[in-house]
Amino acid sequence: SSSGLIVSFGEMLIDFVPTVSGVSLAEAPGFVKAPGGAPANVAIAVTRLGGKSAFVGKLGDDEFGHMLAGILKQYGVKAEGINFDQGARTALAFVTLRADGEREFMFYRNPSADMLLKPEELNLELIRSAKVFHYGSISLIVEPCRSAHLKAMQVARDAGALLSYDPNLRLPLWPSAEDAREQIMSIWEKADLIKISDVELEFLTGSDKIDDASAMSLWHPNLKLLLVTLGEKGCRYYTKNFCGHVEAYHVNAVDTTGAGDSFVGALLCKIVDDHSLIEDESRLREALKFANACGAITTTKKGAIPALPTADEVLSLMKG
Ligand code: ADP
Repeated sequence: SSSGLIVSFGEMLIDFVPTVSGVSLAEAPGFVKAPGGAPANVAIAVTRLGGKSAFVGKLGDDEFGHMLAGILKQYGVKAEGINFDQGARTALAFVTLRADGEREFMFYRNPSADMLLKPEELNLELIRSAKVFHYGSISLIVEPCRSAHLKAMQVARDAGALLSYDPNLRLPLWPSAEDAREQIMSIWEKADLIKISDVELEFLTGSDKIDDASAMSLWHPNLKLLLVTLGEKGCRYYTKNFCGHVEAYHVNAVDTTGAGDSFVGALLCKIVDDHSLIEDESRLREALKFANACGAITTTKKGAIPALPTADEVLSLMKG
């Protein structure tokens, strides 16, 4: 089926994950490569579901950068918006979930190629052809990528795209929590659609109360849809005219990495050819069920990208 293009902007990187679970980074006997980066996961979630997507961002002109570009191509994500930096290297992360339940991170980003995308390097023709422009990356906070990001958002908006934002807060990456909050809120009002998690809701409001009032305190007049994902509890949605809850599907979750990206990709697939779906509660709820089912399946397998389902798999979970 022919569908509109979803352009996903931001970072793509490699997570190195210990070969055994529950160890600290220092104790890991070895690591496996897990390609990721939230915007890249979203782009692949879309093509897995049968939609059309492009990734816009910068990679290092190194082994890892070409490996990542190859993965996008392998999944059918359009690659004309990818630049390779001749100097800086592809971003890398070492990530583990220790036995004590704490996540431990170590990043190579000083700076990595994704942070060095320049406004003049953007493929504007590709960005203008987007029906949905999705973004949400740490690269937003540093120049020159910040300027490239703001320009891409403006170009996409002027061409009629719906702007979709997921802050993807990973605190260890930010200079400080205050910085993170400020940077996220500085572009908050530019988005039509925002997806946050319950953890991000707590962080952005500065209160541990997660309810409709705290979600609505983040509302702004330009916003069309605010989504708060709640893991195994599903999601809540807020629009100008209505709000509500959509329950999650019961699955045997083994690794929640990528669930949020999968959720976003699925929702955007439903919205891309029909922006008005947002204003119709019953159709929006159908789309959110699809997104919940897609997120749920993603938790049943290890890793983010290898766990992203096809549309048939999602529909079969929904049929029960
Ligand atoms: P994020 O990855 O951004 O924190 P969530 O973990 O809330 O996002 O997951 C996004 C969506 O994926 C949820 O709204 C839910 O529909 C689905 N999901 C996540 N975890 C589970 C789970 N354990 N069981 C069922 N569905 C889940």
